[in-house]
Amino acid sequence: MTNRKKVFSAMRPTGALHLGHYFGALQNWVKMQDDMDCVFGVADWHALTTNYADPEDIKENTRQLIIDWLSIGLDSNKAVFMIQSQNLAHAELYLLLGMVTPIAWLERTPSYKEMRAQLTDKNLDNYGFLGYPVLMTADIIIYDSDYVPVGIDQVPHVELSREIVRHFHALYKTEVFVEPQPILTDVPKLPGLDGRKMSKSYGNSIALGESADSIEQKLKRMVTDTNRIRKTDTGNPDVCPVFDWHKVFSTQDERAEVCAGCRGAQIGCIDCKKILIKHVESLVAPIRERRKRFEVEVKDAREYIKTSQLRANEMAEQVVERVRQAIKI
Ligand code: SF4
Repeated sequence: MTNRKKVFSAMRPTGALHLGHYFGALQNWVKMQDDMDCVFGVADWHALTTNYADPEDIKENTRQLIIDWLSIGLDSNKAVFMIQSQNLAHAELYLLLGMVTPIAWLERTPSYKEMRAQLTDKNLDNYGFLGYPVLMTADIIIYDSDYVPVGIDQVPHVELSREIVRHFHALYKTEVFVEPQPILTDVPKLPGLDGRKMSKSYGNSIALGESADSIEQKLKRMVTDTNRIRKTDTGNPDVCPVFDWHKVFSTQDERAEVCAGCRGAQIGCIDCKKILIKHVESLVAPIRERRKRFEVEVKDAREYIKTSQLRANEMAEQVVERVRQAIKI
């Protein structure tokens, strides 16, 4: 038995991971796996809540997700890897929590309204989409998780999970679950290549397995301070997405040089980007190399993480058994 704090986090298998995922979550996961008892999940049922009509890529995306995780340094000997659909206890707990969760709580979830407004090409009038915060709550509390690492925009989700836990405890007059806390992670701002939020669906990302040539081409085309047309124009790094990347990748001296050169029209945007291209390539190159190895080793994601999945399933079964006892069924 360990006194280390327990952490749960998951990703949907919706496509190749990119630098936004790396700086937004994965870099932090790699650190946490050494200090805490972590369960990292592939939320393939969650992918179905919006992609139920086109599920054919989910299995291969799951394999690619595991390959990406391994390639950036996550280790299934340090953390527990699990695939949600391979642990049916999640479904049981989801169902039982669904019995006690008021619909109004789900309808007021900020992301429910936002995603319905954004994903206008999909019919999201399905029960699964409305109920996904309940499934997410089951995912978290089924491992007695103390913490869930999140960005500020996801705090309401964890708060809803806490409300569901408290509601359950009050209803059945027994404490079954650990009430999870959000850990706010300091996420550096890394906009997409067009200045919007980085997202594969916007076509503005650099994948973790991107080729050197593609990194160079993409960064050369990246939007800059739009008021700076010619090299002789002075620029403003404060409004330039490229400079946001320099804040993440470059040394202090390089940033000072770029900043002064841009404001004084002494450095061209291509030369400014060349510094970045070098840094991005040195981060991605070893990941790309490891990807080649894991592409061969991970023939089947379920098979590859089998031992880890068994551990996850055992942990979850213990919690669900406590729930059955609390409900007396
Ligand atoms: S020199 Fe660099 S920081 Fe300045 S506008 Fe060009 S790309 Fe942006």
